Parts: sequence; structure tokens; C-alpha cells
Amino acid sequence: MATNIIFKNKEAKKKESLIKVISDLMSISCDQLCIFFATEDNQNRPNWKNKYDDNYDLQGFYVKIDLEGIPSPWPDEINCILGKFYEHFIWISKRICESEDIHFAWIYAHELQHLKQSLKNPYLLIVAKLLKYVKYEIVDIDIPTEFECDGKAKHIVARIFGEEKSNAYINKMSVGSKYNEARYGRLLQLKISPEYDVEEEIQRAIYTNIKTLKEFQKQMQNSASTNWNIDIDRLCKCENPHNAIMSSVTKISFNDTTF
Ligand SMILES: [Zn+2]
Repeated sequence: MATNIIFKNKEAKKKESLIKVISDLMSISCDQLCIFFATEDNQNRPNWKNKYDDNYDLQGFYVKIDLEGIPSPWPDEINCILGKFYEHFIWISKRICESEDIHFAWIYAHELQHLKQSLKNPYLLIVAKLLKYVKYEIVDIDIPTEFECDGKAKHIVARIFGEEKSNAYINKMSVGSKYNEARYGRLLQLKISPEYDVEEEIQRAIYTNIKTLKEFQKQMQNSASTNWNIDIDRLCKCENPHNAIMSSVTKISFNDTTF
């Protein structure tokens, strides 16, 4: 993989061989990818809030920079210039870089799967974001793109650390908060089939929530809080889920505060 890995974080550097194992197991093949292991957490985002544009949290994020820019506000230490040279960007927070290997592996594999989703369909995550801000307020695993990422992360973690350790890790994580209980409780049961088609699942989820999503999109456009127009009728009508997503998303303006 033609990738530039920036190890700002020294603890992440110690995980270099684990990072390679994960990338190899996931067969990532991508030009123009930058992965940034940070020495900062995102101070601006102490808690998950179900609010548009807060699209990364304390753990990490993937973004296709040429479509969306880097989420705002930027983590401070990222040099803004980065955005102009790379098409894809993965940011892993300090707390994840410095966490135990198994937790690190889970989050890293999860973000790599978002990259794979974007390589498969560059508009998939833009459409998925609509669902994120409408329907799923507590556990975002209900969104097909997140479900697939966690399914793949679980698979990778079990391959590297074994089934027993993987389940013990999930059990350990499932205490402490309502969110953890809900999220990790679900992860213990989660099994993703090889036939899982994330594009089809996203199309179905949009169709199921069509009325609410149309209203929500209108609100976002009226308040200028999105750069995207999604032709929801077109997306739901087209029989091929890949083509449906590809042909229904258009950019309506540039957010020039991103770079
Ligand atoms: Zn995710």
C-alpha cells in the first residue's frame, strides 16, 4: 500500500508490527493515503453529540479529503498542508495510540474498513451520514457502514488475538456507561456474513426512513449545514445499490473553511 504513516505518537510507533499485520490482513491497496498517529486527543469533542458536522470523536476517524476536507475543527497538530497532498486520511487519537494492543487493533481496523468502503463507493459515507444524524441516537452500530466496520474489526481482532481474548475484551468494554453497555453488548453477538452488501443495506435503510430523511436533508440545506444534495427518490428507485448511491449525490457548495 502506498501510504505515508506519520508516527507523531511514540507508543504507536512501538505498535508498528501490529499495524502492518492489520493492514496486510485487510489487504489494503490504496494510493494517496496518509495515516496520522496523534499525540493529541480532540479537545473540542469531549463527548459524542448527535450533531451534524461533529463527525469525528475522540478515538479516530477516516475522511476522503478531496471530497469532504478534514473535519472541522482540526486536531491542532495536523498540518493543514497535508490535506492538499493526500486523497485519504486516517487519524488515530493519542488515547487509542496509547491503549492496549487489542483496543488499538479494533479501532484501527474499524477505520481501515471505512477507507475500504470509500474506495468501493466514494459517496457511501456521505449517504450514511444522513442516517447518523437522524435515526440512531445512541448506538451508531445500527448504521450499516458502522456495522460493517465493527464486524470486520471483530474478525481481525479474533484472527490476531484469538476468539477467547477478543470476547473477553468486548465483555470488559461493555461496562461503565449506558453507551458502552449498548455498543459492546451488541458487538458480542455481531457476526458479519461474507455476503453482507453494505451498499444495499444503506439503500434499504434510507428507503425505510425516507420521509424523515427528506425532511432532515431539507433542514440541513436551509441552514447551510451540508455541502451535499442527495436525491433520495432516485437513490431508492434505482435497482443497483452501487449505481443508486453514485448517481444520487451531488455537491452543492464548497466549504472553504476546511483548508
Ligand atoms: Zn466508524
